[in-house]
Amino acid sequence: MRIVVQKFGGTSVATPESRLAAASHIERARSDGYSVVVVVSAMGRRGDPYATDSLLSLLDGTDGVAKREADLLMACGETISAVVFAGVLRSRGHAVTVLTGAQAGIVTNGEFGNARIVDIRPDHILAKLNEGQIVVVTGFQGADETGELTTLGRGGSDTTATALGVALSAEVVDIFTDVSGIMTADPRIVKEARQLEQVTYNEICNLAYQGAKVIHPRAVEIAMQRNIPIRVRSTHSEDLGTLVTQSAHQLEHGALVNQNAWGIAHTANVAQIRVEGEGVGTSSIFALMAERGISVDLISVTPQQVAFTVADEVADVAIRLLDELGYQPQLRRNCAKVSVVGAGMTGVPGVMARIVTALAQEKIEILQSADSHTTIWVLVDGSHMVAAVRALHRSFCLAAAMV
Ligand code: ADP
Ligand code: ASP
Ligand code: MG
Repeated sequence: MRIVVQKFGGTSVATPESRLAAASHIERARSDGYSVVVVVSAMGRRGDPYATDSLLSLLDGTDGVAKREADLLMACGETISAVVFAGVLRSRGHAVTVLTGAQAGIVTNGEFGNARIVDIRPDHILAKLNEGQIVVVTGFQGADETGELTTLGRGGSDTTATALGVALSAEVVDIFTDVSGIMTADPRIVKEARQLEQVTYNEICNLAYQGAKVIHPRAVEIAMQRNIPIRVRSTHSEDLGTLVTQSAHQLEHGALVNQNAWGIAHTANVAQIRVEGEGVGTSSIFALMAERGISVDLISVTPQQVAFTVADEVADVAIRLLDELGYQPQLRRNCAKVSVVGAGMTGVPGVMARIVTALAQEKIEILQSADSHTTIWVLVDGSHMVAAVRALHRSFCLAAAMV
């Protein structure tokens, strides 16, 4: 059996028109001889009635909702979506079975709200595919070994898709979305962002971890383990979008890599915390954050100061913990992390200079920075985020096609 997994994101199943466009991709794959497993996200985006954010907003003003119950609530979005989409396929003459994450055999650990897949038992899916059915699986869901429903973290339908792709040895996993592929920056911010034909798992994983939400980084890691190709593509086009594989280096991409930087990503709603004073107790600070499950980023330690970032939403808790330790932390909310992603960046003369110059020309202050072999990060005030992304995209000439 030749299998493809086709995942449709929220906007791809939001309206009758987009559901028809999605159905036509499934029909194309079937007429090409594939058995198709479909993964759907909840319909639409924030504000649409059954989108994940809308469901979560039902809890606004309530107190103490258990994560376990929030998962039950969020899972409804994908369940509604799968049933509605199956209706469309059925009315077009197809035999369809809808499976929840648990019914599809997705076993996770018990971390509600951000569960990890620990096993997939695809017998149910395979039985239905063998009957010639299209199987529609609710994205984002699993169940732990005791049967408790879990969700896989925001954006987790991508993870469902690639994990099923691995479990079923699919030929390819198609991630259908509202952009034509993976671009050099978020096209909502940079109009002239250019689509990449081919990227490696490592490259896109890096971009995704820096905030490019076009695909979930965990989904990429899972596909990478078994070398299952991913295509990120538009629901509203026949174009094949961006191919993600182990070694993607077309001529074009090789040229991109030589150019050091090939993509800009951004993460909004970041808070910077600084603790000053001789001999700041670095280990106690980070141990405490880890103990409370607060993930810290952009860490910079000097004998006089510790600085790091956390998500805005946990900043108050982090500050309270530091107060309790006897520190006088300084908090700066509403920052944004902008990342220049590339290859061989560390130590290459001129790369950091280019970043600093581009931001200085826009009068954007760098609050903090860090670098690795593949990425340079700068922290800026949130009000400068869009201008910073655009300036860096321009400065590295990422809109220009490489030759
Ligand atoms: P879906 O609901 O289909 O999963 P998402 O909203 O999660 O869609 O992801 C698609 C969005 O990712 C696009 O609308 C785009 O704004 C955003 N995005 C961010 N960075 C990039 C990038 N480098 N390339 C393409 N899209 C990006
Ligand atoms: N509906 C979930 C979310 O909005 C999962 C997904 O769309 O991938 O996070
Ligand atoms: Mg998504």
